[in-house]
Amino acid sequence: MAALKVLVGVKRVIDFAVKVRVAPGGKGVQTQGVKHALNPFCEIALEEAVRMKERGAAAEVVAVSVGSSACQEALRAALALGADRAVLVRAPEGPPGPREAAAALAALVATEKPQLVLLGKQAIDDDCNQTGQLLAALLGWPQATSASRVELEPERGAARVTREVDGGLETLRLRLPALLTADLRLNEPRYATLPNIMKAKKKPLEVLDWAALGLPPPLPRLRVLALEEPPARGGGERVPDVAALVDKLRQCGRI
Ligand code: AMP
Repeated sequence: MAALKVLVGVKRVIDFAVKVRVAPGGKGVQTQGVKHALNPFCEIALEEAVRMKERGAAAEVVAVSVGSSACQEALRAALALGADRAVLVRAPEGPPGPREAAAALAALVATEKPQLVLLGKQAIDDDCNQTGQLLAALLGWPQATSASRVELEPERGAARVTREVDGGLETLRLRLPALLTADLRLNEPRYATLPNIMKAKKKPLEVLDWAALGLPPPLPRLRVLALEEPPARGGGERVPDVAALVDKLRQCGRI
């Protein structure tokens, strides 16, 4: 089997260290002037693809994002982390939901023809955790979600994937082309070095319009009616000993 072409879906999200605030009007979260970054699980997916390239198992790593022009910043970060080139599919309005993201990624798979698609197991913005499953279904490809170990088996045209499941590990063999989503323990992503950040500025980043991919206009299926901050936490109380603690918990109906 020749070295693979790997497509990695990368999503731009609010940085994990930012305290997310409800925007005035209560229909979304504040995004203006807020630090954004690559979704951490996408960094892990990308790291796995870059390692495949470094050991000669992958020929090309293409990072793909679906969203607004601002996603170019996430794609430049992916290029600095080792992707060879990047593609932005510009979504016509608002941040795309999993259905739109999966449809756009499926259209790109049709043109790019990768043998492997790697995504994060979830995005930390809305935790919807559906894009990989929807995309595998649209492509009719085998999928392994929450991968914690990936071994390519070129002689079989397959990948052997260990998944973290409730109460243990599951090992699957998937025939390629296939889709994998990355779990936390798959690897530890590298940091982008300054020379690589500079080199990334010269790597190709293609911008495609939604309609140019032959995609129908997105049909929003969900409307956020209201978002509220969690209630502020009340102050704590010190109790002298365990007996008093148990008493207190009984009184407030916790045990
Ligand atoms: P989610 O289904 O939103 O939790 O996202 C799971 C994974 O799907 C992410 O880690 C990305 O790899 C991929 N993904 C989701 N949305 C996008 C997007 N707009 N552009 C590129 N990849 C995406």
